[in-house]
Amino acid sequence: MATITITENSKVKNKEKDLKEATTSHDLDQVLDKVKKIDNTCSFIKCKNRTNDFAIECKYCKGRFCPTHGLPEIHGCGDAVRKDERQKYLHPNVKLTQEKHSQAQTKLNMKLKQMQQERKAKQGSTSKGKKK
Ligand SMILES: [Zn+2]
Ligand SMILES: [Zn+2]
Repeated sequence: MATITITENSKVKNKEKDLKEATTSHDLDQVLDKVKKIDNTCSFIKCKNRTNDFAIECKYCKGRFCPTHGLPEIHGCGDAVRKDERQKYLHPNVKLTQEKHSQAQTKLNMKLKQMQQERKAKQGSTSKGKKK
């Protein structure tokens, strides 16, 4: 029996509530501005660091953190990590195949991107001279 209890993490901002509050305004520009601001700051409570240039997304709480608070242990996902580590330890094969799968996916994506770029490059050379 695996019971996972999700306890409210007081160290992480409640962005959903913030977003809800932000979207109550009737001024669309204001709403967009607020949402953007909420989305571009570190999810760690009291932290006002901007994360629009560089954000670390936590796979446990889905929060976006500045480099200072990116580690799960720092912003309060330490338990989740330990749970995950234990899972990995107990079921190493599952993890391995998952990793392999995601690696293959990444490779495929890269290949696709490369192909796209090559195609673009080719198009670029053939359409030369067509400029006004
Ligand atoms: Zn987290
Ligand atoms: Zn932070």
